[in-house]
Amino acid sequence: MTYLLPEMAEIWQQTLNWQPTAQQQAQFQRLYELILEGNRQLNLTRITDPQEFWEKHLWDSLRGIAPLLSANFSPTPLLPCSPVPSAPSALIDIGTGAGFPGVPVTITVPNCTITLLDSTRKKITFIDNILTELALTNAKTLVGRAEEIGQHPQHRQAYDIALIRAVGAASVCAEYTLPLLKQGGLAIIYRGNWTKEETTDLQNAVSQLGGVIELIEKFTTPLSDSIRHCLYVRKIANTALNFPRAVGVPSQKPL
Ligand code: SAH
Repeated sequence: MTYLLPEMAEIWQQTLNWQPTAQQQAQFQRLYELILEGNRQLNLTRITDPQEFWEKHLWDSLRGIAPLLSANFSPTPLLPCSPVPSAPSALIDIGTGAGFPGVPVTITVPNCTITLLDSTRKKITFIDNILTELALTNAKTLVGRAEEIGQHPQHRQAYDIALIRAVGAASVCAEYTLPLLKQGGLAIIYRGNWTKEETTDLQNAVSQLGGVIELIEKFTTPLSDSIRHCLYVRKIANTALNFPRAVGVPSQKPL
């Protein structure tokens, strides 16, 4: 097994209408190496094969923010009716773990500032080292629980876009993300499988939080044809102050 990431220029182009620069490719490669090294100490990811890492971590992370990468990427009504701001935006990745989707987004969208949040200090220390090694200055890290950060005056209603992947049930993700968004901001919830029944439940949760489901996109990953969904939830009203609820409550008693 070689630990060299594939470039996949054509697939990037076909699927996201975008390609990494040589510098971004080098940063992806270094990120991959640092995660393989970090895996010896920390349980960061089971995905270590280069092709699989490319698909399930890099491509998957960036597919969710495709509208930010390419103005021409418009498979959906997302862009025409509600443009993602092209001015520097404030992003937050909640439960970033080993840095997904936040670190690939930091590498590819340099005109944003991104906060990488996780409740596990060890993971955040690991990410601090990644940011230094990759010379990424547009990201900062934060240790804490989404339930507390969402009530903090410095963070509540402070973000244009909130990303969340593999942190919990969709309604839990909605309760973590929406309080952190400015009005008009967008939550991007990454999912694998998704059903109509789940949409009904999510709609109920989101309406209590001041949001609407703007779009649910279904797609398959380009190498292994795995099913993915991205849920785009727009914040259209203030979130009531009782959300997010106390630590542990959102996941124990999902809306
Ligand atoms: N987003 C990454 C990691 C998913 S694992 C990926 O997709 O690969 C879930 C991560 O969320 C863990 O690192 C865990 O520490 C963190 N997490 C879980 N609940 C959290 C909460 N309430 N607030 C902040 N981080 C949380």
